[in-house]
Amino acid sequence: METMRKRDFDGDVLTAALETDDGTIYAAYNERERGTEGPFYVAYTDSSRTDRYGYVCGACGSTHVAMNTMGRLDCCDCENDRKPAEWDAAYL
Ligand SMILES: [Zn+2]
Repeated sequence: METMRKRDFDGDVLTAALETDDGTIYAAYNERERGTEGPFYVAYTDSSRTDRYGYVCGACGSTHVAMNTMGRLDCCDCENDRKPAEWDAAYL
């Protein structure tokens, strides 16, 4: 009896492989930051999540997400961004 297994890399259904210009990256769907248009997922270059790549925009699927030192995330391909709200609150 043959069993079809579609989600069988490392048995982790919360990780998704994505093809990019840099090769295959792995988005961790359970590691995310809230953005204005959708979540940003943490991405790794390996499925065991040891080598961090950056972020994937959950709104448009782009990997062109800019990070700055203030903790802000900004998608280069759509309007999605994350403002460091906790920091803002601390200054108000
Ligand atoms: Zn985007």
